[in-house]
Amino acid sequence: MINPLRQTRVPLRLPLRLQALPLRQARAFHSSPNKNNLARVTSESQQTQQPQVPAQELQKALPLTPPSFAHLKDFSVGELFSFMTIGAVASHKSLLNLAIKAFPFVPMPLIKALVYNIYCGGENIEEVKQTGARLADRGINNMMLSLTIEACNGNDNIDPDFIVQQTQHSVDEILIPHTISMLETSGKDVNSVPPGYVALKPTGFVKNAAAVLKNFDQPEYKAEFEDLVSKVSAICQTIYDSNQRLAQLYPSRVAPFAVGVIDAEKHELQEGVYELQRRLYQQFNKLDAPVSVVGTLQMYLSESSDLLAKEEKLANENNYRLGLKLVRGAYIHSEKDRATVIHKTKEDTDMNYDQGISYCIDSILAHQGNESTIGHLVVASHNAESMKLATQKTYQSEFSIGNKNKANICLGQLLGMADSVTHDLISNDKVDNIIKYVPWGPPKETKEYLLRRLEENGDAVKNDNGIPLVKAAILTMFRKIFA
Ligand SMILES: Cc1cc2nc3c(=O)[nH]c(=O)nc-3n(C[C@H](O)[C@H](O)[C@H](O)COP(=O)(O)OP(=O)(O)OC[C@H]3O[C@@H](n4cnc5c(N)ncnc54)[C@H](O)[C@@H]3O)c2cc1C
Repeated sequence: MINPLRQTRVPLRLPLRLQALPLRQARAFHSSPNKNNLARVTSESQQTQQPQVPAQELQKALPLTPPSFAHLKDFSVGELFSFMTIGAVASHKSLLNLAIKAFPFVPMPLIKALVYNIYCGGENIEEVKQTGARLADRGINNMMLSLTIEACNGNDNIDPDFIVQQTQHSVDEILIPHTISMLETSGKDVNSVPPGYVALKPTGFVKNAAAVLKNFDQPEYKAEFEDLVSKVSAICQTIYDSNQRLAQLYPSRVAPFAVGVIDAEKHELQEGVYELQRRLYQQFNKLDAPVSVVGTLQMYLSESSDLLAKEEKLANENNYRLGLKLVRGAYIHSEKDRATVIHKTKEDTDMNYDQGISYCIDSILAHQGNESTIGHLVVASHNAESMKLATQKTYQSEFSIGNKNKANICLGQLLGMADSVTHDLISNDKVDNIIKYVPWGPPKETKEYLLRRLEENGDAVKNDNGIPLVKAAILTMFRKIFA
């Protein structure tokens, strides 16, 4: 029979590093070739006659996609001006470094005028609701909300109870109504509307967060750690209850309606974060039901493949399901033990990331319903090649056709980042399950988050940034003004 999906979708050309990945793996990561680090995978793959490209040649072998700025037409003149500024700053490494150094001293009103609105969804619930509506106009039907109050670097003015309360409001007043509205009005099938996610930053839920997370298993920090767990758990309970209620209204939906996502932090805090995630999985990710909690794995960590195997093993032993958000990792610039904890090269991180998402997607698509140990995956990346791989496996592989469980695989990018990639996935690959991570909150508190976005602008070879972005933003601005 001719496959209608194959006919309508534009075939994706996978870059060399992805062509080398086997399409189907065994269903346990601890016994999978994907578990091991790059060197080990290469040698195992060679045994099975898989073509391999030496890591240092990969970058040269990958063709850069021609830059497309079609997405810019969806933005206002003010936003285009912001893109122009960001493009100008990112056009030269030394200019970007200067901007990064000067950033802490830039007055808040200037930050608000120039970059806040590009990267952040608003200061209050009303503004974030409007952001949700604007994203829906661009075909992005849900969000991952993050009340962004950076707490771990000595900002102990935070009030964890206030964060819990505001986060609960964001679930009740933004995420749930927005998800229902998308289910009712978007014209999409019940399994083609992504869940609403709420990102939960562990450092925001307790004072002295860094010490509590680092020493979570020490008696003197036990009470504070338990308090942190109970605060995050209260939010996840709201999410779990909403999922139960909405499942009655939309019984044919396979994916959850709302999901609590634990964000990953600096490496030295992660053991405490993993413990938090496991407690929440156990409480809210019941067998044979959609998950309500997703934890994060940073695939730039050299230990990450072992961690994925460990999480899967613990879930099987303790009878709960895993929800995973796979990221490369955002703290490379501030990681003090970078040489020991992070993969040696970008290529190693890329390979590890692609193997991780491949394994999780295969795992989810090996079932039609909620039976798999890995119950939900967020592929959180701006990397166009990783997105191509995820899209190809989720929508075009032989295991995906007619498989409702693909609703449990969602792609995500940060607001204001990789908008051309998001636009391409929606317009050309017809991807429905795609969201933007939307930080919100007072501009002063989001300063560290904004700084990380600036740093990322200089991380990879970007063909949709710098001078080409400046030119495209000016052209689109002129078209808008004189149309
Ligand atoms: C929806 C969403 C949620 C996120 N949540 C989190 C989170 O909870 N915690 C978190 O830490 N990050 C988070 N991130 C950020 C993420 O970790 C990355 O920093 C960011 O997405 C850039 O990576 P990329 O996959 O887009 O790919 P690219 O731009 O291709 O890769 C850049 C990344 O590659 C890695 N890298 C760069 N150079 C090297 C090198 N020399 N050696 C080894 N590795 C290198 C770094 O991780 C760097 O950030 C999130 C991102 C998204 C889109």
